[in-house]
Amino acid sequence: MNIDPRTLADYQALLERRVEAPDEEQLIQAAETGRRLVLASVPLEDALRVHRTAVSCLTASRPGLLLSVAGPACSGLLLELVRAYLEAMRHQLDDAVRANTLLEEERACRRKAEKELEEKVRELDRTNHELEQFSYSASHDLQAPLRQISAFVELFRKKYSGKLDERADEFLHFIVEGADRLQTLVRDLLKFSRAGRAELVCQEFDLAEAVQEVLAGLKVDVEAASGLVETAPDLPRISGSRSLLSQVLQNLIENGLKFRREVPPVVRVSCSRTEDSWVISVTDNGIGIEPEYFERVFEPFQRLHPAGRFPGSGMGLTLCRKIVERHGGRIWVESTLGQGSVFRFSLPLPARAMPSQRDGR
Ligand code: ADP
Repeated sequence: MNIDPRTLADYQALLERRVEAPDEEQLIQAAETGRRLVLASVPLEDALRVHRTAVSCLTASRPGLLLSVAGPACSGLLLELVRAYLEAMRHQLDDAVRANTLLEEERACRRKAEKELEEKVRELDRTNHELEQFSYSASHDLQAPLRQISAFVELFRKKYSGKLDERADEFLHFIVEGADRLQTLVRDLLKFSRAGRAELVCQEFDLAEAVQEVLAGLKVDVEAASGLVETAPDLPRISGSRSLLSQVLQNLIENGLKFRREVPPVVRVSCSRTEDSWVISVTDNGIGIEPEYFERVFEPFQRLHPAGRFPGSGMGLTLCRKIVERHGGRIWVESTLGQGSVFRFSLPLPARAMPSQRDGR
């Protein structure tokens, strides 16, 4: 049944005034209102709201008064409501205590997990550092004996090739080839370790100029492949380690020329801009890559073709990824088998340059 909200408001107001200045007349009125509330079967929610004030009346200076003047019906109602209210409070309190205990347990678990994670990260850093140190020392120290082997095998081949039997010549060929491949592997491994160890000295430089410099070094390769390397006209100035990023460009352009089809290779270097980074793309019209290898090609020593078909160590793209990630960017490939590939890498814009450079384009 609906009850006039003013009745509830009156009742509440009377009780509240009672706390401030007890007045017997008003309390009798309150009792009357209370009786009417009983008769009107006030919904528990509303009655509770009113009687929260009644509870404070009961615990105030003259707790007996309200009950004595309210008459049996009203005092019964009050007591019931107070009891219900206290019961609800107890449940709420129990729930809160339970929730609090759970929260505490969860917090303790999270703290423990965070500590374990920190420890694992430290351990990983240590192991990484040791591995880097190891690969650097190993590749560095292996170079001298390898050079010696290569040089002497080459001398041996020159002196004795054709003078021994046919099998010996064949064996010599394999030894020279193996030594060459080993040298390439060790050289690329050393390049990789150096790229990870070298201090990252960043500067702003002209991307077009850097590409031209790389192309000057690749002139022979471009000619040998009867290829063409194009650069977009609007290459911007970018920030980063010029020498390391040039290595990335060189590797990607070299790959574009190397993994060619029957047609002359055409490689294009371009650059676009997103909200927060430059994205540099090296596009080729080569053999392409199947989607299932898009991630794998960036792993160390991963090669998709036999060494006889395309030379290489399988470290080139790993080196590119290392350098790009050290700059805070990422590298990926998009490709269609038999049509060509686009290798893209992003370089975050220096924070202060973001708005003006964006507006400038
Ligand atoms: P490498 O060139 O020394 O073999 P990379 O790490 O540069 O090593 O490349 C890994 C592999 O990814 C290559 O062996 C090749 O199979 C594939 N790959 C790289 N670039 C291209 C490309 N532009 N087109 C097709 N395949 C490529």
